[in-house]
Amino acid sequence: MATYDIVIRNGQVADGTGRKLFAADVAVKGDRIVAIDAPGTLRGDNEIDATGKVVAPGFIDVHTHDDTALIDNPTMAMKASQGVTTVVCGNCGVSAAPYVRPDVGHWMSLIIKKKENLSKDFASFAGKVDAAKPAINGAFLIGHGTLRINSMGDDLNRVATAGEMKQMRELLDQSLEQGAIGMSSGLFYAVSSHASTDEVVEVATPLGRWGGVYTAHMRDEGDHILKAMDETFEIGRRVGAEIIVSHHKCSGRSNFGRMKETLPHFEEAMKKQQIAFDVYPYVAGSTILRSDMLDRADKVLITWSDKVEGMSGRDLREIADEMGCSMKEAADRIQPAGAIYFMMDEKDVQAAMSHPGAMIGSDGIPFDAHPHPRLWGTFPRVLGHYSRDLGLFPLEDAVRRMTSYSAQRFHLAKRGEVRTGFYADLCVFDPATVIDTATFEKPISPARGIDTVICNGAFAWRDGKPGGGQAGRALNRQAMQAEDKA
Ligand SMILES: [Zn+2]
Repeated sequence: MATYDIVIRNGQVADGTGRKLFAADVAVKGDRIVAIDAPGTLRGDNEIDATGKVVAPGFIDVHTHDDTALIDNPTMAMKASQGVTTVVCGNCGVSAAPYVRPDVGHWMSLIIKKKENLSKDFASFAGKVDAAKPAINGAFLIGHGTLRINSMGDDLNRVATAGEMKQMRELLDQSLEQGAIGMSSGLFYAVSSHASTDEVVEVATPLGRWGGVYTAHMRDEGDHILKAMDETFEIGRRVGAEIIVSHHKCSGRSNFGRMKETLPHFEEAMKKQQIAFDVYPYVAGSTILRSDMLDRADKVLITWSDKVEGMSGRDLREIADEMGCSMKEAADRIQPAGAIYFMMDEKDVQAAMSHPGAMIGSDGIPFDAHPHPRLWGTFPRVLGHYSRDLGLFPLEDAVRRMTSYSAQRFHLAKRGEVRTGFYADLCVFDPATVIDTATFEKPISPARGIDTVICNGAFAWRDGKPGGGQAGRALNRQAMQAEDKA
């Protein structure tokens, strides 16, 4: 009988495709899954008893800002503890490369804490990720906002000139050639809000040639969301790229219930082009503190402030009362800062999450002092709260939306399924107890019920702590395309 490096014995396999659970042993050798056989039949140097547990593919967090967290914090505990083995970085228009300016600046500081993590081209950034030996994998989008700052400096309140567009396009082209998986835009944000649809198309043109994806934090997720969706679809169509709409939501009380409009609008467009979207399982969003967002939120919590100490985790209403001023004034006084906004309808969140086009992404912000709980809680919350407790969808389908579907949409070759020949990215969890423990009050808290997480055959998480694995890598689009054909 063959002996393998690791055998996960007697578990119930959720293979990632949505297929019904089945009992099996799963064997790993090197960085691959090499055998799946009847329970109790495989032997390994390291055997894990998964009786009563589910063996799933490692989860793919399709919406993250973990670009440099992979370098600064290579155990990636906030993600590995949730069963995540791959993070898609560079979302919302902000990435760590390519960037040739000397200073990090305010916008880039959202995802970069150390100047040495800035990289003039994508290849050198990917090299830094690999050298850090993270516990889990990263796949990387290039941010349109980053390209803008890089080519336009501080003069961002206008459409880019033809020369600037050409430079951005060439940088994107070079990054895709070096292995980036696509481009993200964040037209909602000040650094990009003056970009026209034509500008984004001009810059994103190389996506069609390389087969890169286009992800969009749309210009508007509130009153004008349908128009913003049309703009996004137009960009994808004109450059010939597959689209992933980021963190789909209908934002603000006046837009509650509008999933009834947006989901059919997606469906119409999906008949003509490849479109998907990601969702996080909460009614609150989180980003920088913006006074124009205060009105539409029922409640605002501060996640960090560089100016005033002791603000993290506090309700902006209380801060304003204490200062004896309006919330807008209080916000101005503690800037620059980050915030959590309670601004979505629970029914909308559930409708989006259970739609056939939806996959799961956390949108967690790794460096916040008092982060949104989605950073530590997204995946166990979908499994425990939404699938098991509320019955929103079967466990097998919850796993599919975190694994194979995500891998297909982002073209992550040989990942997202428990299948012989695929990479050994695996998560063993207890379906009866798995749950998020991170809350808005206490957001830094690992999930319950996730025992063992393996990435490329090494333990990323084990027995409630980082497992010592250092087998994560920067996934390279060119290499993945070749592997897909092989
Ligand atoms: Zn975003």
